[in-house]
Amino acid sequence: MKYTVIADAYEKIESTTKRLEMTDLLVDLLRNTPKEIIDKVAYITQGRIYPEFVSLEIGIAEKLAVKALARASGRKETEIDEDLKKTGDIGETAQKFMASKRQVTLVPQQALTVERVYETLDKMAKASGSGAVDVKTALLAGLLADAAPKEAKYIMRTVTGNLRLGIADMTVLYALAIAYGGGKEARELIERAYNISSDLGRVAKTVAEKGLKGIEKFQVLVGEPIRPMLAERLSSPEEILEKLGGKCIAEYKYDGERIQIHKKDYEVVLFSRRLEDISSQYPDAVKLVKDYVKAKDAILEAECVAIDVDTGEMKPFQELMHRRRKYGIEKAMEEYPVSLFVFDALYVDDKDLTFEPYPIRRETLGKIIEESDRVKTAKYIITSDVKELENFFLEAIEDGCEGLVCKSMAEDSVYQAGARGWLWIKYKRDYKSEMTDTVDLVVVGAFHGRGKRARTYGALLLAAYNSENDIFETVTKCGTGFTDEDLVKLPEMMKKHVIQHKHSRVNSMIEADVWFEPVVVIEVLGAEITLSPIHTCAMGSIRKGSGLAIRFPRFTGRYRIEKAPEDATTASEIVEMYNNQLKKISES
Ligand code: ATP
Repeated sequence: MKYTVIADAYEKIESTTKRLEMTDLLVDLLRNTPKEIIDKVAYITQGRIYPEFVSLEIGIAEKLAVKALARASGRKETEIDEDLKKTGDIGETAQKFMASKRQVTLVPQQALTVERVYETLDKMAKASGSGAVDVKTALLAGLLADAAPKEAKYIMRTVTGNLRLGIADMTVLYALAIAYGGGKEARELIERAYNISSDLGRVAKTVAEKGLKGIEKFQVLVGEPIRPMLAERLSSPEEILEKLGGKCIAEYKYDGERIQIHKKDYEVVLFSRRLEDISSQYPDAVKLVKDYVKAKDAILEAECVAIDVDTGEMKPFQELMHRRRKYGIEKAMEEYPVSLFVFDALYVDDKDLTFEPYPIRRETLGKIIEESDRVKTAKYIITSDVKELENFFLEAIEDGCEGLVCKSMAEDSVYQAGARGWLWIKYKRDYKSEMTDTVDLVVVGAFHGRGKRARTYGALLLAAYNSENDIFETVTKCGTGFTDEDLVKLPEMMKKHVIQHKHSRVNSMIEADVWFEPVVVIEVLGAEITLSPIHTCAMGSIRKGSGLAIRFPRFTGRYRIEKAPEDATTASEIVEMYNNQLKKISES
């Protein structure tokens, strides 16, 4: 196929502003394309040479493009630069210079074919190492030398990432439906094929060569990311239950990074929500998958969450930002470890599960995940009760989650790849109470540590003072902010206060591993105050059945030895802080 066919089509597409006309032009182009190379044409029309999830890019910097153009046109780089300043478009400049090309050393060859353009772009993308820049320049100059001026324009725009025809993937799919699927009714099936493969080229080739029959049989493939299913949003448990037919699977909405896990034997690839390969950011997560996923082949979805390995506490999403780097991943891995919370199974050992209802997918997940400290299936309840749902929500918030994702259990609760729909409903908070001040809390209990903290405490159970009833009410579990020195000192320091049972002045619904007399006061800074079904602080004063809790608490390093437990922050002060700092969370 001559590249000029493509260049002509692009020119016409560019000159129209009417969507319908644009689609017709695209349909013509696809019909005129030999079926064997329709995948390549689909990619290059999107300015790429592979599906988006393949991280290889042509990646020609403008400077290099100018160099290649100078070589192909026999003009000086300074002349080209000058013109580029005026046009601001390397494509247009290339067209101009190639039209008035001076004698050049490169010998012109035959007319450019799409195959040759594609192969050359492919070589450019794969060139690496020290001589890569020279190789790329030579390849590009070679292409330009054989290109007609109009062809040069589009080649230049393509290699520099500036081919902006304004054709969305969905428009290509629509054009494919018309060109090869028998009409626009085929669009839905073709879109589904795209949603489960993210590969425009494979979809184009399948429908062109095998028609709709081929598309109907289109399968998910390990290695090709499935476009993520997304959730709608509601703001009350009543509405959610009603929408989901009175009953749902409610899961913790973990606050991390969504990853799609692709496992084939011992090969594991992780894709981000935007379908980028992010395996290199999470070598530890790759290892966790290898160790704890008991399936030969699988496509799973999980939330990757920053945690404190010694206490098991979840950390805020921002901590994962440290993983967004090319170098020093080993160090980041050590400083910011992660856990995986797996929430869906889309393909397991030769079986495509995307058509299965969610309860079946969830059950499959249970069978193939060997739960450990670092890999778990998402925490969930099955409920039809508003109160129970609300309490689970509060528990989720307090544990460091964003809220819940409530999922349909109906027969038709399939995996809707690439769609935001009502089969999943997220329940997040509308209000947030940020903490700006520290609080002084009484140590009333502790939990055993593990890992580096095996000989000391993993977290302390802390309480506020209720001055009306003269008791201590739990408000948070704190495991962060302690230095190694603190950790050695703590058991020693608390030893004399250990008691066999919960102290009679301590009101706690949580079972601690070790109980203390309420004596020691420490200073803590938290991220916010939330309602809680399990902490007893100011129980019922904001809402019936709920206490208040401090989220993401951190020990400031100050032992308030000068304070008696009765001098600790009171429950009513915490209520006041909660009320004073209510902020509406902007819709997200
Ligand atoms: P948000 O910013 O609220 O996460 P979003 O547009 O990224 O929005 P939504 O589909 O609206 O995504 O919300 C679901 C998101 O919540 C998923 O993308 C996923 O990253 C995350 N998540 C955490 N836990 C779960 C879970 N148990 N089930 C599904 N998604 C979960």
